[in-house]
Amino acid sequence: QAKSEGRNTFRFFCAEMNTAAQARMEIENDLRQALEQQQFHLVYQPQMDRQQGCFVSAEALLRWEHPQKGLIPPDRFIPVAEETGLILPLGEWVLAEACRQMRLWQQQGQRIERVAVNLSARQLVSDTLIGHVSRLLEYHHLTPDRLELEITESTAMREPTSSLRQLQSLRDLGIRLSIDDFGTGHSSLSYLKHLPVQALKLDKSFVRDIPDNRNSRAICAATITLAHTMGIQVVAEGVETTAQADFLGSLQCDLLQGYLYGRPLPADQWAATLTQV
Ligand code: C2E
Ligand code: MG
Ligand code: MG
Ligand code: MG
Repeated sequence: QAKSEGRNTFRFFCAEMNTAAQARMEIENDLRQALEQQQFHLVYQPQMDRQQGCFVSAEALLRWEHPQKGLIPPDRFIPVAEETGLILPLGEWVLAEACRQMRLWQQQGQRIERVAVNLSARQLVSDTLIGHVSRLLEYHHLTPDRLELEITESTAMREPTSSLRQLQSLRDLGIRLSIDDFGTGHSSLSYLKHLPVQALKLDKSFVRDIPDNRNSRAICAATITLAHTMGIQVVAEGVETTAQADFLGSLQCDLLQGYLYGRPLPADQWAATLTQV
């Protein structure tokens, strides 16, 4: 009895693996085509400066509109793009598109100060990154403080030594750097201390449970104190309620991002949001 059950479980497990592998291969093939056919676009989510009370920054988030399957969320295709190396051309496109948009906002006289772009692990250690970024800034006549790059702790920890060197080069260019999803990765404080970053993004899993949850409250408070003591700003992500915003305000959190202030939107729908402030 137990034996046959075991066999069934095993077969079921294999079938699942197959489906997963198939889905992954399908995404990989579709991704190649998507790059050629430009099925990607960026949406932008505002970041509110708590003290100034206005939007100072926007995070660019990648969207894939598949012609048959509809919108595919980044959490499903970015890992595949990363494994296959397709993240390199895709990431270059994201950087170029975000810089183009930043230049456009600037020319339109929008008060937005900078655009933030997520970097993946492969991109961070690629030898073409620094050249590509500096050429883009030059081409679009952007000063480096107009661009922020977000990396997660896990991204940096994949290859800690070369990541650190690359981050230093980006910093030397004058680009703002931030650590995304702070508190969820596997980096150590002793590694963090060497990272030349200007901001930490408090992960939304902590923000979600404040102000009710005592542990989340403590983590938010301690992170903000730690960052400020190191001269680093804190961006709270996933702020959805005024209760969360008020609590983060009482901790002097610098920037707030989340559905409370605005969902990620295509740039053309953003103009109205920006001029409202
Ligand atoms: P992330 O960089 O941590 O981005 C924040 C995610 O939280 C976004 O999900 C955003 O839409 C979502 N979010 C924003 N406000 C709220 C809120 O108030 N509540 C909740 N529950 N969620 C909120 P999204 O757009 O699905 O992106 C997921 C992840 O995919 C990003 O996490 C980032 O790691 C990755 N990603 C997105 N675009 C790019 C890209 O261009 N390049 C790379 N390498 N990764 C990207
Ligand atoms: Mg991010
Ligand atoms: Mg994040
Ligand atoms: Mg995230």
